[in-house]
Amino acid sequence: MSMHPMKKMKPKSQQVQVDLKQADTIKCSECNNYLFITSFILKRLSALVSPNGQEALIPVQVYSCGNCGKVADGMLEGSGVEEDEGKSSFPTLDI
Ligand SMILES: [Zn+2]
Repeated sequence: MSMHPMKKMKPKSQQVQVDLKQADTIKCSECNNYLFITSFILKRLSALVSPNGQEALIPVQVYSCGNCGKVADGMLEGSGVEEDEGKSSFPTLDI
């Protein structure tokens, strides 16, 4: 009885094939839209806390809903921006 190793551990090709059907589509939690646009939160670093002693403008890239403008969940973490629940600057349309 010969034991042929049937499974050869071939190194996978460099290109990683990702089946996007297996990946979750992130949708806006407000309006279910799935198209996002890149936006920037601009943080102004005061000269007092800036490493080089100069006031600095720091852009933080986030993705916001292309429909209602809501920043995708989790994107604001660590940015120091509080999400305003309930107080929306966008007028909402109930269809
Ligand atoms: Zn939205």
